[in-house]
Amino acid sequence: MTIDYTQLYIDGRWADASTSATIAVHAAATEERLGSVPEAAERDIDDAVAAARHQFDDPDGWSRWEPARRREALERFAVALEKRAEETARRVSLQNGMPIAVAQQFEGGFPALLLRYYAGLVADSPQEETRQGMLGGSARVIREPIGVVGAIVPWNVPQGITFLKLAPALAAGNTVVLKPAPETVLDAMLMAEAAIEADLPPGVLNVVPGGREIGAYLVAHPDIDKVSFTGSTAAGRAIAETCGRLLRPVTLELGGKSAAIVLDDADLASTIESFFAATLLNNGQICWLGTRVLAPRSRYDQVVDIVTGLASSLIIGDPLQPTTQVGPLVSARQRDRVESYIAKGRDEGARLTTGGNRPEGLDQGWYLQPTVFADVDNGHTIAQEEIFGPVLSLIPYSDEDEAIRIANASDYGLGGSVWTADPERGEAVARRVRTGSIGINAYVNDPVAPFGGVRASGMGRELGPEALHSYQVLKTVYLDPSAQA
Ligand code: NAD
Repeated sequence: MTIDYTQLYIDGRWADASTSATIAVHAAATEERLGSVPEAAERDIDDAVAAARHQFDDPDGWSRWEPARRREALERFAVALEKRAEETARRVSLQNGMPIAVAQQFEGGFPALLLRYYAGLVADSPQEETRQGMLGGSARVIREPIGVVGAIVPWNVPQGITFLKLAPALAAGNTVVLKPAPETVLDAMLMAEAAIEADLPPGVLNVVPGGREIGAYLVAHPDIDKVSFTGSTAAGRAIAETCGRLLRPVTLELGGKSAAIVLDDADLASTIESFFAATLLNNGQICWLGTRVLAPRSRYDQVVDIVTGLASSLIIGDPLQPTTQVGPLVSARQRDRVESYIAKGRDEGARLTTGGNRPEGLDQGWYLQPTVFADVDNGHTIAQEEIFGPVLSLIPYSDEDEAIRIANASDYGLGGSVWTADPERGEAVARRVRTGSIGINAYVNDPVAPFGGVRASGMGRELGPEALHSYQVLKTVYLDPSAQA
């Protein structure tokens, strides 16, 4: 049975699309057709933005509600999402190949958690303060919502990434037009069902599936006040150019090529599960993964053996099986792309220690073996470009200074990790890596702390109170001096 939607979620209800165009979705593990949704055209984006604008500008609307009232609405949304958590995880896993155990956490659980975190943050902490001035008067400094947010998300962690944006944006009082990626739209429509059940006011959230042209149209739409994008660096640059021209605030979470630095005292075997999660999770399709593994020459062969042993022992297969550790890639196009990097790694003289091929016995689906290259030079293409698949590059280094130099010799700077028996030494190394976030003997994005990149990995931060502030604008009211005398 396929899952077919015939309408878009605009202005708080299911609405006919302006054309009959549809987006078909296929299962990563079987290549079968999973379902379809209407493809939004420019007129649908216009309608969605108008609905979001109308709600935002309503003097009694969402943006003017007391935070406690928005919190109640977002709590209803969280409950409606939790009711659908299993199905959300299942749909994501079917669409993009994410192992179900990961999907239950990132896609099923994370959205409700983020909604509650941000709704609570806004309701429980003052959004304005009065400052005694230096010139005799005083000023009220108020955090206001920015307006209508255009949110554009990729297919790799579709619901998790969606709520990195929706939760702070909605809690702050903004309204949102969301454009999901064409590869993963069935989870977005299920989220729309939850929004309807939660009775979110019309226009607070709108979902308009489509490809890059419609995404670009949304970014440049005259009634959008802020853009939030996660995806490739190439698309991020194009979006940044548009936003620059329009002087439109933008948050960009882009690609990465992070370093997992194994220090010479590390007991990698004892932290292998965390190492797996920090380097190969979600079939290698996460932007912050440490896909350059930096190994000390003094223990190089041992590290190569451990990482090779890990990659070759992972359970590959049906992403819906709870024991599966590596599922298929999202699409034939993505697998072709990853395979072209594997060919390049071979051409450039790196030593393949495991993988490199499609696994035997899995003829249907876009599967690829977890792959490890040793003896990679940091200048090689496979060490510099984001592959977005289960491919690790092992790079030898001589001492800590060289490890840090290699880690920092990248256009990107998003995640990373340090592996060591000495947490203090690990932190000292972590502080020297130019990146937005880095973990010691693990890498986990905790909602309370900001996450984002430097250089080609993007601008701005998600998570933490910092993300909330990126959906707010500061207004100062200089208070009447005579009233204070
Ligand atoms: P992409 O960046 O092209 O697409 C991501 C989202 O942006 C999609 O919703 C897409 O429709 C939209 N989009 C693309 N171009 C746009 C534009 N100019 N204006 C507005 N919206 C636009 O990513 P992709 O083609 O799906 O994947 C290509 C590569 O990007 C991957 O192989 C991977 O390296 C990288 N990627 C990174 C992330 C990440 O989280 N950092 C996520 C997905 C893909």
